[in-house]
Amino acid sequence: MKHLIIGNSAAGTAAAEAIRENDPTAEIVMLSKDATFFSRCQLHLVASGKRPSAKTRFVPQNWAEHYGIEVRFGQHATAVNALQKKVLCSHGENIDYDRLLLATGASSLTPPIEGIEGPGVFGLRNLEDAEGIYKQIMGRRHVAIIGAGLVGCELAEALVEAGHTSVTIIEIAPHPLPLQLEERTGERMLRLMVDHGIDMICRDSVTAILRDSQGEPTAVRLKTGREIPADLVVCAAGVRPNIDLFAPLGAIGHRGIVIDSGGRTSVPDIFAAGDVTESCDSTVGRVMPSAIWPAARRQGRVAGINMSGGDESLTEHTGLKTSAVLCGTPLVSLGPVFDPHPSWQKQIYEHTDSRGRLCTKVCYSDQNGSLAAAVLWGDISLSGLYAEAIIHKHPLGDLAPSAIPDYRLQAVV
Ligand SMILES: Cc1cc2nc3c(=O)[nH]c(=O)nc-3n(C[C@H](O)[C@H](O)[C@H](O)COP(=O)(O)OP(=O)(O)OC[C@H]3O[C@@H](n4cnc5c(N)ncnc54)[C@H](O)[C@@H]3O)c2cc1C
Repeated sequence: MKHLIIGNSAAGTAAAEAIRENDPTAEIVMLSKDATFFSRCQLHLVASGKRPSAKTRFVPQNWAEHYGIEVRFGQHATAVNALQKKVLCSHGENIDYDRLLLATGASSLTPPIEGIEGPGVFGLRNLEDAEGIYKQIMGRRHVAIIGAGLVGCELAEALVEAGHTSVTIIEIAPHPLPLQLEERTGERMLRLMVDHGIDMICRDSVTAILRDSQGEPTAVRLKTGREIPADLVVCAAGVRPNIDLFAPLGAIGHRGIVIDSGGRTSVPDIFAAGDVTESCDSTVGRVMPSAIWPAARRQGRVAGINMSGGDESLTEHTGLKTSAVLCGTPLVSLGPVFDPHPSWQKQIYEHTDSRGRLCTKVCYSDQNGSLAAAVLWGDISLSGLYAEAIIHKHPLGDLAPSAIPDYRLQAVV
C-alpha cells in the first residue's frame, strides 16, 4: 500500500506517524513545497528576531528515518488525477498513490486593498514571510499590521519587545482578538496592548497602501481618511484554505474541503486534514473550518489511522479553542465567543488573585443552562474542564466559577 501525503506540517506529520504505527510495511511518501519542518505557531518570533528559524523545527532531526518516510521537500503538487490515482508535481513528475492525504493547510488572505501588491508588504504564514520581515524590518521605522487576530497581536507584541517603537495594528472590530474575546475582556486587552507600546486603531480599516516613487510603502490610508506612516506592512487578516488541488474533484464547503469524522473526503481514497478542511465542530454542532495546530494534529492522526485500514472517528473536534499568553496575560477562549446565540445568557465572574491581578471567567450558557462558550482571563486553571463542559453540554451550575473560592458574580447580561 502506497500512501502519499501532501503537506509536512501539523496534519501531515500526525497522519504519517499514525500510518506507520498501524502498518509497519506501508510505503509513505510526503511532499512539501516547504524546504524544511517548521512550526507556524512560532513565525512571529522569527519575524521579530527573537528565535532563529532552525529553532522552530517541531520534529526530531531523525523523524523521517525513524518513521521510514520518504520526504520530498521543495516539491509543489499541481494537480490530482483521482481516476488514475496520480499527483502531478511542478517539475513534471507524476507520483502514484493508493491513498492520498491532502494536508495542504491555508495561505494568508490578501484583502482587496489598493497598493497591496508590491515590495514591503508581507503575509505571515511561511518561513520565507517571517525571514523576509526580519531582514527588511531592520532598515524600517514604522510597521503597520492589518488585523488584530492572534497572529497580528502576537507579532506586534514580539516586535515591540524586540525594540521596534512604531508598531500600529489596524482592526475593523471594536477590540483586538474579536474571535476570541467579548467586550469586557476585549476592551481590557486593548488597554493592555496600548500600555505595552502598541498603537491600536480599532473600528477602522486599511483602504490603500501608499508608496513612494521607488514603489516602497510610506503609509497606509484608513477608511476614516487618516494616514498612518508605514514603511513595512504585514497583512494578518485571516487565512484561505489551500483547496486548489481538490476543488476540481469533490465537495468544498463554505471555504474548505468537507471531510467526515474519519477524515474522508467525497472522493474515494482521498483524505484531508487540518486547516484545509471543514468539518463538524462539536461546540457549535455545525460544519466550519478550524485553524489551530492541535485540531490539525488530531485530524491528521484520525485520517492516518483510517488510511491504513483502521476505523477511527473524531467525535469531539473543535477549532474554537485558543490559548495564548499576550502582553503577560494568560487567556483561553472556548466555543463561539464571537457569535453567541441571542438566547444565551452571559455571566461574568471576577476575583483579584494574591498578586493583585484581576482574573475573569466569562461564561455563556444556553437556554438549557448548559455551558456554550467561555473566556478565561488571567487564571486559566480548569480550562480543560470548561472545554469538556462545552463539548458535552454540561450545566454551567456544575462548574460555576462561584464554586471556586474568591470568584464573585459581577454581571449577568
Ligand atoms: C504566525 C502563526 C501563529 C500561529 N499560532 C498558533 C497558536 O498559537 N496555536 C495554534 O493552535 N495555532 C496557531 N497557528 C495556526 C497553526 O499554525 C495551524 O493551524 C497549523 O499549522 C495547521 O496545520 P496544517 O498541517 O493543517 O497546515 P499548514 O501548517 O498550513 O501546512 C500545510 C503544508 O502543506 C504544504 N503544501 C500546501 N500546498 C502544497 C502543494 N500544492 N504542494 C506541496 N505542498 C503543499 C505546505 O508547504 C505545508 O507544509 C498559527 C499560525 C500562524 C501562521
